[in-house]
Amino acid sequence: MTESGGERVDVAIVGAGLVGGTLAVALAAHGVKTAVVDQLDPGTMTHRRFDGRASAVAASGQRLLSAIGIWPHVAGRSEPIREIRVSDDNAPLFLHYAYSDVGDEFLGNMAENRHLHEATFTRMKELEGNLRLIAPATVSHMSETADAATLHLDGGRAIKASLIVTAEGRVSKLRAAAKIPVTGWRYPQIAIVATIGHEKPHNGIAHECFLPAGPFAILPLPDDAGVHRASLVWTERADAAAAYLALNDAQFLSEIDERVGGFLGRLSLIGPRFSYPLGLQFAQTYTKGRLVLVGDAAHGIHPIAGQGLNLGYRDVAALTEVIVDARKLGLDIANPDALGRYERWRRADNLMMAGVTDVLNRLFSNDVAPIKAARDVGLALVNRVPPLKRAFMRHAMGTTGDLPRLMRASP
Ligand SMILES: Cc1cc2nc3c(=O)[nH]c(=O)nc-3n(C[C@H](O)[C@H](O)[C@H](O)COP(=O)(O)OP(=O)(O)OC[C@H]3O[C@@H](n4cnc5c(N)ncnc54)[C@H](O)[C@@H]3O)c2cc1C
Repeated sequence: MTESGGERVDVAIVGAGLVGGTLAVALAAHGVKTAVVDQLDPGTMTHRRFDGRASAVAASGQRLLSAIGIWPHVAGRSEPIREIRVSDDNAPLFLHYAYSDVGDEFLGNMAENRHLHEATFTRMKELEGNLRLIAPATVSHMSETADAATLHLDGGRAIKASLIVTAEGRVSKLRAAAKIPVTGWRYPQIAIVATIGHEKPHNGIAHECFLPAGPFAILPLPDDAGVHRASLVWTERADAAAAYLALNDAQFLSEIDERVGGFLGRLSLIGPRFSYPLGLQFAQTYTKGRLVLVGDAAHGIHPIAGQGLNLGYRDVAALTEVIVDARKLGLDIANPDALGRYERWRRADNLMMAGVTDVLNRLFSNDVAPIKAARDVGLALVNRVPPLKRAFMRHAMGTTGDLPRLMRASP
């Protein structure tokens, strides 16, 4: 890297989070010269206290991670989701999904975010010939000429690229500088996240119970040192969450115990608690000149269906395909046709999922009697109509629609 002229790469990515990091790996694995910059160093991002979440990686996301060599580094630390049970507070009806109803692929796999980050960084090292990780480093701005763009880092460093991708997450400096409008709103909810140990095995079953304040999810994790574990995502009213977070461990655990309902036996708390404000946002366009948006920088959704990262993985697979195809034809990878194809491919799908999660959250996060009665009938109906149920499952697994090559069963 030179201080003034700058290194030349094909693609420069800002943000080495789960989406930006995966995109860097996918491109480098296809021989695309890539640089990825993050303001944080990898040691911070993989630290136990940095991100307490675990992600439900859908079947399509797992196909992508396998195809580009990340999955082998995380597989041993992940837990398959064999079944999903959705229940509505104390209603006797529930919706039950089993992976064997749709084929032999699991519904998804749970992996702790720190392990996904570690696996991504490990794979980056294996691809060092084509991939340069620059972290910690902060981006100040980008500039563009007719045939290239330049990413300027604080301290005077510069990287020249045909295409710049922002994977900066919800707050994106490059998106703001490009004046790309963002529409969205905050939910009056906070997600409280914690890992629990439990006496009885979870048997690979993910539970989502809709409580009046929001969904309460119990997600299976692999055992650790003989302890059965699960990741909790407890959505709470924003005005009540601070009081729960301030409880001592015994009181906090007793609140969790009450919501879990005893079926996992005695519970314990493992590690710290985390909290995340929730909101929905989507960028009005995904490309401008030589800049492209992926992941949360393009769309941020409610975690009610565990799909935010999975949408980001679909962005990665689609953008990689568009770039690889343009290179094969000897075209500028930032040509408007190629970037337009990416935008058309991803924007409608992301918007639809944003809409679905928003409606689900509004429909289920309340205890208004007529709404509750109607949604319980809906749950029972889906449960009893196998084709409808299978369609929902395939959608959640991300295995329907116009799939990018890296997400097809045999890429
Ligand atoms: C409680 C909760 C549970 C969830 N569970 C699931 C789930 O089960 N399944 C699922 O699919 N999704 C889930 N999600 C959504 C998922 O976590 C996000 O969609 C995903 O993490 C977004 O990743 P990203 O890489 O786009 O952004 P981020 O994770 O925000 O990463 C952005 C990166 O960019 C870097 N950066 C930002 N600005 C700059 C800059 N100017 N210069 C340099 N670096 C910069 C940051 O340091 C960071 O590393 C959940 C979300 C929440 C809140």
